[in-house]
Amino acid sequence: MTVTPLGIDPATVFIGGTWCATLSGETLDLSNPSDGSILCQIARGNADDVDRAVAAAEGAMQGDWGRMPAFERGRILARIGALVVENAEELATLEALDVGKPLTQARADVTALARYMEFYAGAADKVHGATIPYLDGYTVYTLRQPHGVTGHIVPWNYPMQIIGRSVGAALAMGNAAVLKPAEEACLTALAFAELGRRAGLPDGALNVVTGLGAEAGAALASHPGVHHISFTGSVSVGKLIQQAAGQNVVPVTLELGGKSPQLVFDDADLDAALPFLVNAGIQNAGQTCSASSRILVQRGVYDRVVAAMAERYGTLRAGPALSDLNVGPLVSIRQQQIVTEFLEQGRDLTIAARGQIIPDAPEGGAYVAPTLFADVPPDHPLAQDEIFGPVQVIIPFKDEAEALAIANGTNYGLVASVWSSDGARQMRLAKALRAGQVFLNNYGAGGGVELPFGGLGLSGHGREKGFEALYGFSTLKTVAALHG
Ligand code: NAD
Repeated sequence: MTVTPLGIDPATVFIGGTWCATLSGETLDLSNPSDGSILCQIARGNADDVDRAVAAAEGAMQGDWGRMPAFERGRILARIGALVVENAEELATLEALDVGKPLTQARADVTALARYMEFYAGAADKVHGATIPYLDGYTVYTLRQPHGVTGHIVPWNYPMQIIGRSVGAALAMGNAAVLKPAEEACLTALAFAELGRRAGLPDGALNVVTGLGAEAGAALASHPGVHHISFTGSVSVGKLIQQAAGQNVVPVTLELGGKSPQLVFDDADLDAALPFLVNAGIQNAGQTCSASSRILVQRGVYDRVVAAMAERYGTLRAGPALSDLNVGPLVSIRQQQIVTEFLEQGRDLTIAARGQIIPDAPEGGAYVAPTLFADVPPDHPLAQDEIFGPVQVIIPFKDEAEALAIANGTNYGLVASVWSSDGARQMRLAKALRAGQVFLNNYGAGGGVELPFGGLGLSGHGREKGFEALYGFSTLKTVAALHG
């Protein structure tokens, strides 16, 4: 099978408004995690291609794109959003094939991408500076301006959503973007660029260079012509990105995952909580930065919650993405190995339940049976480290203070949720939990497009989504005029 996203050759890169070969002509295999087959060859872009892409972006800033009124930028984003909706089924199928994501979940990601485009289309002309009262004889105002060329290094777990929130916001503020998608899953990044071209994005406003992280990714992160870097991925690479950005003294947004807890108190509405407890852990086979991988449960309802979650796990089926079961394969055999090693570390723990890999799942697929551990000590590696697979741990607690200590007792801080009918407790915990987002009596992995999102500690820093992202993707200039 050779996949051609929206009719384009996936072995090309998108630079200066044109699909073109890399300078080296080298390619990489892109595999289908559902069965291990090769979907197609993608371009193996390197530092030379990144140079060309950054130059094209700089050219766009000096040209039509840099001069375009904000409302016109918004109209282009709105047209991209409409094209996303028009091509929804093809985009969902590409994402499902490439990531291994069940089709229903891939369709939800398409909807989110369209929403990002709508949101940032409408916001493009609504973020601006202010006038500031100052000394007699002065007029002082601020200008909110684009950084210039923004670099976007994107992972494989939610390509469309992460492109939507980061590239969408950067373009809305008038930056010119260079996007480096993940080598494991980049088809929808190519499709997005093609939709941008069709929607009328000026040449160079968006450029896409596929390739390896250590080659194209590292070249983009350290490029002196890049003025802002947005990275989503692993902590180890996040540290490298921050170092590279430090060399050029440019701002960086890091979104590095988490170990997000849900706290279930004795007074919670369990019927409301139960579907969220499991779904937030197994969505996208647990390969979600905001996956809820820790479930903290108060002793009074502990046995009931464990039994109910175990029952749900018993119904989970893992199989090929296009079969659209609850769980797909992991993105790669490498990711399957990482998760299998974590499961090995849990061999002395209590397995409360496991889902099944369907019997006719293809041999070469990267499947892992969803696994639920109970009675897990809070300091166990499975309760501390990001697993990035369909694995959840349940931890008992006796009171609010212990729940908070456990919840805050990892190096991460991305999302948390509280299930309780006590309003005062909800408010106390919302303040005290170390997380960038706190949900009360719900859990919205990553939240809606309007809700600022990002972490603390090893989860990273900076905020994407919502209006907040637009401040991050722009810089403020103060103009002070002395006119007497
Ligand atoms: P990764 O961090 O290696 O890859 C993410 C992106 O960074 C990809 O585009 C990759 O090409 C690029 N990259 C890799 N090395 C680079 C470098 N030296 N310089 C610049 N860019 C580079 O993630 P992974 O190896 O694919 O996944 C490993 C682990 O990372 C997972 O098990 C999971 O814990 C975590 N992860 C987190 C997220 C998230 O959403 N926060 C996403 C993917 C992976």
